[in-house]
Amino acid sequence: MSLVVQKYGGSSVADAEGIKRVAKRIVEAKKNGNQVVVVVSAMGDTTDELIDLAAQVSPMPAGREFDMLLTAGERISMALLAMAIKNLGHAAQSFTGSQAGVITDSVHTKARIIDVTPGRIRTSVDEGNIAIVAGFQGVSQDKKDITTLGRGGSDTTAVALAAALEADVCEIYTDVDGVFTADPRVVKKARKIDWISFEDMLELASSGSKVLLHRCVEYARRYNIPIHVRSSFSGLPGTWVSNEPHAQGAQKVEQAIISGVAHDTSEAKVTVVGVPDKPGEAAKIFRTIADGQINIDMIVQNVSAASTGLTDISFTLPKTDGRKVIDALEKIKPTVGFESLRYDDQIAKISLVGAGMKTNPGVTAAFFEALSDAGVNIELISTSEIRISVVTRADDVGEAVRAVHTAFGLDSETDEAVVYGGTGR
Ligand code: ASP
Ligand code: MG
Repeated sequence: MSLVVQKYGGSSVADAEGIKRVAKRIVEAKKNGNQVVVVVSAMGDTTDELIDLAAQVSPMPAGREFDMLLTAGERISMALLAMAIKNLGHAAQSFTGSQAGVITDSVHTKARIIDVTPGRIRTSVDEGNIAIVAGFQGVSQDKKDITTLGRGGSDTTAVALAAALEADVCEIYTDVDGVFTADPRVVKKARKIDWISFEDMLELASSGSKVLLHRCVEYARRYNIPIHVRSSFSGLPGTWVSNEPHAQGAQKVEQAIISGVAHDTSEAKVTVVGVPDKPGEAAKIFRTIADGQINIDMIVQNVSAASTGLTDISFTLPKTDGRKVIDALEKIKPTVGFESLRYDDQIAKISLVGAGMKTNPGVTAAFFEALSDAGVNIELISTSEIRISVVTRADDVGEAVRAVHTAFGLDSETDEAVVYGGTGR
């Protein structure tokens, strides 16, 4: 008998109808002879609503209480789902993250899973139940407080449970048919990918693709858990994410040269203008940013003008950290001696991802030509072995992504990508 872990996102269980639809699908998996463990997210926009509610009673809610509040969302959906399954005549039991043995560190609102001890889940399924687990939550090892794993964390719960239970597969059900060559909300001709390597999926996730979270893919790669991303609405086969193209259920597919085009409009650009071009200046600037616990992404330093001996340094960072960085840099302005700061949050990052670019010359040139043909100006460039990213104006993002998608032959000729609901989570 195989053990399947299935995860359903918030848009799949947005209302009572959704919960009943998902319950039927879960029962099918059980009837097909599998042991089934289900991880569920909060219904629809529940998590956002709870966050809004917290903000109304306190501008800075304590992390411990904030996490306690947010985990309530998943408790609602897990209990309702278990009821709906029982109503179909099958045994089901719901469990909180803590009951399921999801043990984390104590960093509230973005805890990391450090261990999973799923004894109760194992017993429950061995007794013939379908076990329903609340996603996105755990309990801290030291203080035994309830924690959450960060937005979208239910995917990580699912993969972590699949690893601990040595499941045969982890199915992530969402509101699109799988991983696409671009966001189907932006590119109508985006193509569903049948198989993608962990490596390429990680790059897509860190470049703005929202279908799977970076942390979840990282976890799956570490424990070698194949993920099957598919729609809870259509029932079509989705995308396999794994080490090998021959993973269970995957058709034999070749590794594409380019896996896809991702975009991200959540970042801003900071330019430090007129930095003295001498050793130690960049170090001071980036030490200040690092001490503020802020992650930066792309960095570009201009050639300094010979006449002035000054240079400009630009970098990108999450918009949400913009205020913090500007304040911190203003403070060190006298010691570093730069001229001024510029802040620009009207940018987009567009990334081309694919392991094939390691061995195929000309990918960068073709990428830049596609952008130039679309009249899109490039402001910053960064690369990894299997990714090229550029920063453009935010207004250009749709057009740029579509142009690059077409230029690399990724457009599908047949079916248009379907978005069944939700907002990309
Ligand atoms: N409900 C949480 C969120 O909206 C966790 C999740 O959906 O995975 O972020
Ligand atoms: Mg959600």
